Amino acid sequence: MTDSGDKDYSLHTPMMQQYLKIKAQQPDILLFYRMGDFYELFYDDAKRASQLMDISITKRGSSAGEPILMAGVPHHALDHYLAKLVALGESIAICEQIGDPVTTKGPIERRVVRIVTPGTLSDEALLNERQDNLIAALFQTPDGFGYATLDMTSGRFLVSEPADREAMAAALQRTNPAELLYPEMLQDFILIEYRSGLRRRPIWEFDLDTARQQLNSQFGTRDLTGFGIDRAHLALRAAGCLLQYAKNTQLTELPHIRAITFEREQDSIVMDVATRQNLELTQNLSGGSDNTLAAIIDRTVTPMGSRMLKRWLHMPTRDINILTQRQNSIQALQYNGSFSRLQLLLRNIGDLERVLARLALRSARPRDLARIRHAVAQLPDIQALLIETNSPYLPQLLERIGEFSELRSLLERALVEAPPVLVRDGGVINSGYNDELDYLRALSKGANDYLDCFEVREREKTGLDTLKVGFNAVYGYFIQLSRRQSHLAPIHYVRRQTLKNAERYIIPELKEYEDKVLTSKSKAIALEKELYDKLLNWMLPSLPALQQSAAALAELDVLCNLAERADTLNYVCPTLVDKVGIHIINGRHPVVEQVLSEPFIANSLLLSEEKRMLIITGPNMGGKSTYMRQTALIVLLAYIGSFLPVEQATIGPVDRIFTRVGATDDLASGRSTFMVEMTETANILHNATRLSLVLMDEIGRGTSTYDGLSLAWACAENLVVRIKAMTLFATHYFELTKLPEKLKGVVNVHFEVLEYGQTVAFLHAVQEGAASKSYGLSVAALAGVPSDVIKRARQKLKELEMLSNAVSMQQQAVSMQQQEVPSALVIEVLGNIDPARLSPNQALEWLYRLKKMVKSSPHRIVHS
Ligand code: ADP
Repeated sequence: MTDSGDKDYSLHTPMMQQYLKIKAQQPDILLFYRMGDFYELFYDDAKRASQLMDISITKRGSSAGEPILMAGVPHHALDHYLAKLVALGESIAICEQIGDPVTTKGPIERRVVRIVTPGTLSDEALLNERQDNLIAALFQTPDGFGYATLDMTSGRFLVSEPADREAMAAALQRTNPAELLYPEMLQDFILIEYRSGLRRRPIWEFDLDTARQQLNSQFGTRDLTGFGIDRAHLALRAAGCLLQYAKNTQLTELPHIRAITFEREQDSIVMDVATRQNLELTQNLSGGSDNTLAAIIDRTVTPMGSRMLKRWLHMPTRDINILTQRQNSIQALQYNGSFSRLQLLLRNIGDLERVLARLALRSARPRDLARIRHAVAQLPDIQALLIETNSPYLPQLLERIGEFSELRSLLERALVEAPPVLVRDGGVINSGYNDELDYLRALSKGANDYLDCFEVREREKTGLDTLKVGFNAVYGYFIQLSRRQSHLAPIHYVRRQTLKNAERYIIPELKEYEDKVLTSKSKAIALEKELYDKLLNWMLPSLPALQQSAAALAELDVLCNLAERADTLNYVCPTLVDKVGIHIINGRHPVVEQVLSEPFIANSLLLSEEKRMLIITGPNMGGKSTYMRQTALIVLLAYIGSFLPVEQATIGPVDRIFTRVGATDDLASGRSTFMVEMTETANILHNATRLSLVLMDEIGRGTSTYDGLSLAWACAENLVVRIKAMTLFATHYFELTKLPEKLKGVVNVHFEVLEYGQTVAFLHAVQEGAASKSYGLSVAALAGVPSDVIKRARQKLKELEMLSNAVSMQQQAVSMQQQEVPSALVIEVLGNIDPARLSPNQALEWLYRLKKMVKSSPHRIVHS
């Protein structure tokens, strides 16, 4: 806040004085100042707006001796410009005319009625319906981070305490907030510097006591122990700042935010930034949504279901009870195809979650209420179908879904069938709902009997049979007489209009009636607004139950979706067990199998306590990456409760999934491919456990062969021996296929190709043992590398192979020679022997010993 009160605006015009005072309250964000049919921006705001929105800037008049810079947008295009600005991470204060332009002297009263910020939107027009839109706050101390996110459209308020930078980065990437609050002097600013929608907040907004107080007052609680977050100080600080900000921008109560949940890392399968990117869950590597896991398995019929499914994908749960419930539900919904009948009904529910947010914020429009009415009208049929299904969990959902019959009948009585967009112009409230409204409307339409009676009465009084009563927009109500009878008009008839064949008159009684009709119109509209507000008030107490219902319906949508997908894509229910291991029989890659034109070759996989690492070799394009990724995706799908693209699967506990796949340069942060690769590898080696699924693809590629090979070797060893993680290790270093001979728990598998002539055909079938040969050149030929280059490469390969054979023979010779040289130990022993002090027998004994030492390998001497 600034010193608006102290500034001297007296040199400015009265309107600019008003503007500057309001602007002083919103110094950091764009102020849209309503003037008639336009929203205007002035001075620096005008400059920024003209750049951001590509609108022209003008100089108009002057105030305080300076020309006024301004830029404006027409009021009906507001949403369009807001969408543009919000996408750029900007916030906007909307200042409306509050006063009456007719009765006001000087500038009309104006007030900021709402502040639109990227993270707190609830307007339908500005949101992507199948994506969460979050506002977040983060806080950091040397002990770690506090992170809070709020979904303004559902009231979902979550906090966590990421332990380190890596975990914080993963949380940011997963939640991808549209707006992020952070404290001034944030130590690890590097984590967020490329994000849009950043809001730097003063450190005191993260005060712990204020946070507690804010949260308690929001939830109506005395302390926060009930939410299990009382001791989560870092999370609380972030949450406090976030809530305060949300309240300040919404300028209204937030009754739909009723709880806060602490998310513990160990409750879900953890994935780091790289893993989430590589697995292409909801976004592909180029930033789009084609060929992602979500693109295949999301056929939900409500936007809120789609958003829930994506949350599940990004945070697979480790709670076996929940997973079993989901599996059972899917099975029950598949029975008789009841999912498809439910989906037809659910489609009509629409985005109930976001509609309810607008109800909570009191910005719900008539059509929002009509959607609630339409949604609750589906509930009896949904209930009936759910009762039919044979499942232990679905009845619980049914309870949460509820009935709302009273609300439904109220909305049916109160709202017209197809209400207009705004309450402002009336026509929202049904006839028969309120007597007074009906009366006013009848009056305003002139549709009551009054005019008929009046006409009959006047005709009788005057005895003029051509007398008629009519209405016209310019002259209002009139009495009309034919020209033939006009000279007989009574004296109190005042002539208003002369037509060719008729004269039109008014009398005071008719004028009075007209006034009544006209005021009744505005009275009716005012009454409608009042009734509409009452309706909202009446509905607000049902908000918590409605929110719960929306969440349950979203869940039902996701479950029906998973049932439908399982049915359509031929997925099978896995067995989830306590025993460590992953056993997949004939698994398929959920995305690749859908996009391939030829049939997908299913492959099996077994990882267990005894078989912890597969070294995967084979030609490029052989199917190594596909095999590894499909394993991760299958495990992930199992942990959202979904059925799987497999013939059969038994899956044990998994705590994290790591992937180190095909590095790309992270140019933004100035890190080379190799650096990225090593950073990711370091993260895996630090954080993987025996329950982690680790995918390592071609590690060590970014450096020289020997460096790369040694690193790959050492990493593999570390993963098996120390960490004991479940690892799939694809490599082009054939030397690594020797690992199984040296380490327990490592097994070779490979992908085969069929060679015919100079070319090859990929089998894509995983087989036991190591690949025998590299097919790089054949693959290069397939890819269209010119034949003379391939020919030359084949020559070169031969030379190199011969050279390498020669080198290895030389090396063998050298090592044989080395073995013939007496070992250092023998020399040392000899040095310590004093012949003068040995008996002949002792001397002979030493001679035998030394001879034996020289014969044995140096290795064995050391240990003998
Ligand atoms: P690699 O990692 O060994 O270089 P990829 O896994 O990238 O090979 O596979 C290359 C291509 O082969 C894929 O894009 C896909 O079109 C095809 N492919 C891979 N696995 C299979 C499979 N199991 N069945 C059918 N086609 C496959």
